[in-house]
Parts: sequence; C-alpha cells; structure tokens
Amino acid sequence: MTLPVDIHTHRPDLHPNAIISVTPREFAPEPHRYYSIGIHPWQSAEATPHDMELLEQMASHPQVVAIGECGIDRLKGAVIEHQAEILVGHIDLSEKLQKPLILHIVRAYDLLLGIHKKMRPRQKWIIHGFRGNATTARQLIDAGCDLSYGEKYPCAALQATPLDKLWIESDESTLPDDTLLTHIAEAYPCPTATLQASIAKRMKDVFFSKI
Ligand SMILES: [Zn+2]
Repeated sequence: MTLPVDIHTHRPDLHPNAIISVTPREFAPEPHRYYSIGIHPWQSAEATPHDMELLEQMASHPQVVAIGECGIDRLKGAVIEHQAEILVGHIDLSEKLQKPLILHIVRAYDLLLGIHKKMRPRQKWIIHGFRGNATTARQLIDAGCDLSYGEKYPCAALQATPLDKLWIESDESTLPDDTLLTHIAEAYPCPTATLQASIAKRMKDVFFSKI
C-alpha cells in the first residue's frame, strides 16, 4: 500500500491516492481509498441530528482515517454557537475513535484556541488550507496544532511552520500532488525529497497507525 502525501482532497478523480474529504451522506467507500468524514461548516445550517448520527456510524469504518473537515467559518454557515456545537461533536468523536481532526477555520482561530485549551484533545488537530499570518501560525503550533498548505499559501506562515508540523493538500486544486509538493518545498525552502520523507513518516503514525 502506497501511503498518500495529500491529506485533503475534494477531487478524488484527480487525486485518487489522497485522503478524500466527504460528508456522512456522500460516504461510499471504494477499495484502496481512504477518507476523512465530517460536516463542513458551510453545511452547518442544514445539518440535522440525523447527519450527526450518520457521522458517528460511518466514522468508525476502517477506511475512515480522520474526522473532518469540520470547524468554524465566521463568513458562512450557521450562527457561531451552533457551528461550535457541531465542532465539539466532531472533537468528541475524534477522541473516542482516536482519529485525527481536519479543520476548516475562517476568522475563528481565537475561538478554536479556546476550545482546544478547554477540551485538551489527545488527537492531532490539522488546520487545512491554512491562510493566516505567521503569528497565528505560531500560536496554533504552540497549542499543538499542525498546519496544512495547498496551491495557495501564505509564504510567511509556511516558513514559520516547523517541518514536522507541516502537511500538504490538494483540496479543490487540479495540480498534481507532485507539483504541489515541489511548489511548497521550493517556497519553504527545503529539498522536495526532505518534505516528502517527513510527511511519509508522519502519515503512518498520524493517519494509518491502525491499518
Ligand atoms: Zn476542503
């Protein structure tokens, strides 16, 4: 089995060997593919208790290697209190099943840091598609979070992220994973092979320790 380097995609047609992000309703596992499952903050307003039940049922599937994407988006979705409530449901599930959490956070890093401090999770939290500044990056890393970067990334934050806290993702991008890896390695900067080896090593521990 070749472990993916791409921790988050919505384009499995282009990135079959990535961790595929799906909602509980979309989840229909195909052989040799791996998934993260969650209710996106943009769908928080329409999410029903049934969606949370479905999420719980499907999250323990062996091909589900992470919980999410979930999170808080101040620009879209339900009122913040409701988004936070749904997020806490995902955190509880991540802790119960011992699967890492993939987070979508927009203008809500303060709130996330508060929830992290209060809940003291043991599982890894990865902020996907991180677009904040270097100071916010450092605050999140100090709190124990990892950061993931894709086709568009803030250079200062990327360079402020220690190699062992850094992940890559295609998300909605059509660029091949190799190209994303090379772009991020050049901007960091470090040899592409160094970045690839670092991710490969952690991929096993963080996402595939039970497989
Ligand atoms: Zn996404």
